[in-house]
Amino acid sequence: MSDQHHQHPTDAPHELRVLNPATEEVVATVPAATAADVDAAVRRAAAAQARWAALPPGDRARLLRRFAAAVDAHVDELARCEVREAGHTIGNARWEAGNVRDLLDYAAGGVERLTGRQIPVPGGLDITLLEPLGVVGVIAPWNFPMPIAAWASAPALAAGNAVVLKPAETTPLTALRLAELALEAGLPEHLFQVLPGHGPVAGAALVEHPGVAKIVFTGSTAVGRQVMARGAALLKRVTLELGGKSPNIVFADADLEAAAAAAPLSFLDNAGQDCCARTRILVQRGVHDRFLELLAPAVESVLVGDPADEATAMGPLISRTQLERVRSYVDPGAPGIRGKAPEGPGFWFPPTVLTGVDPGARVAVEEVFGPVAVVLPFDDEADAVRLANDTPYGLSGSVWTRDVGRALRVSGAVRAGNLSVNSHSSVRYWTPFGGFKQSGIGRELGPDALTAFTETKNVFISTEGPAQ
Ligand code: NAD
Repeated sequence: MSDQHHQHPTDAPHELRVLNPATEEVVATVPAATAADVDAAVRRAAAAQARWAALPPGDRARLLRRFAAAVDAHVDELARCEVREAGHTIGNARWEAGNVRDLLDYAAGGVERLTGRQIPVPGGLDITLLEPLGVVGVIAPWNFPMPIAAWASAPALAAGNAVVLKPAETTPLTALRLAELALEAGLPEHLFQVLPGHGPVAGAALVEHPGVAKIVFTGSTAVGRQVMARGAALLKRVTLELGGKSPNIVFADADLEAAAAAAPLSFLDNAGQDCCARTRILVQRGVHDRFLELLAPAVESVLVGDPADEATAMGPLISRTQLERVRSYVDPGAPGIRGKAPEGPGFWFPPTVLTGVDPGARVAVEEVFGPVAVVLPFDDEADAVRLANDTPYGLSGSVWTRDVGRALRVSGAVRAGNLSVNSHSSVRYWTPFGGFKQSGIGRELGPDALTAFTETKNVFISTEGPAQ
């Protein structure tokens, strides 16, 4: 680590102030970790990891299941915490806490099934061993603080590693609570540590620490690039889950009612602060006007308000910074469909669909990370694929059509990691998730999730007798 990271830069306060984005009230203040704190945490994690990896796999699986059970017993508490610090609707937040439980259970199921191979070679026996990496650093964003922390942490722990997690500055609370629950469930001390802190201080220290074998970074493409560059000095293993500008492709032969009903879910969920948000709605020209007629009531009727209210469909944006950013993309006079949002306090922005947008406009090209989509017409299948791929990103996308052949052709042609046909959703913990192009490197979740946290060692055992 370089010395400059042992101290806070003068502009990085020693505490993180957590605001409720729906009210702007201070929910909590937590200390911000310094690089020295990260160093101490990594050393403790390394010691804990050695003992953890030496446990019989069945014992590790059992402890992870207990951790899952502890999360299950606190779903409502965790969800309410997520509502307060991130402004997620209570329904979504409960799903997120449940997702952490499911991920832990799924990873626990993999512990005893993580096996190497035996490969036929002449002159001996060849086997591969899947060894844990050691200490894994996880750097999480604020948009899904709980699930994203668990996507990496659960399989990393299951594969025999220790985890040091740095949550985002704005959302440290649920992660801190998860670390407490891990201890209560009996996970060894220091095996799963959460260190809230500033990205350029604590995050950078984790990336540059020689004792951290792998970094799983989820966040913006700009910071992801820095993480990869800094990690390169130590040839650090990296998984990067970055931004997106995903297409939602509606063909004329689709079930238009279903496509229009699902479209708001695909870009308004979590107030559009979703890396998979389908924010470019590509509609075949012949059904463009009809589709907009169907879409308008679906968007206008989205109930935006108090995220703690069970009836609310969309909450606030995470921060004033994010609100200003989203505002900068939307000309208030631009044509389109608009829903309603509260005035404030709180960081509110109404559901917005812009029509008649130039495909090269900033709002049609850049990741807005707010409840804003654009509608772009296309002529035919080739045109749809060209538009869908006309982005540096490649995270996800949807294809709406009743033609199976077209669904498969277009899914094959779109350069993105996660495609859904006649569906708006991308993420299922049973299946691999990750980006093409500038949306990331590596995959998380799915059947190979644990393997991504191992190093393959090949061992050849000679069966040749002594030379005659
Ligand atoms: P961000 O890049 O600003 O921050 C992400 C994390 O990185 C935070 O914990 C932050 O403190 C830390 N960080 C910042 N600077 C750092 C540095 N120099 N070194 C190390 N760590 C540093 O992103 P964000 O605004 O929190 O999250 C939004 C972004 O995340 C969006 O672009 C979104 O698309 C992306 N995202 C991607 C996925 C995915 O799976 N592909 C999922 C969720 C969010």
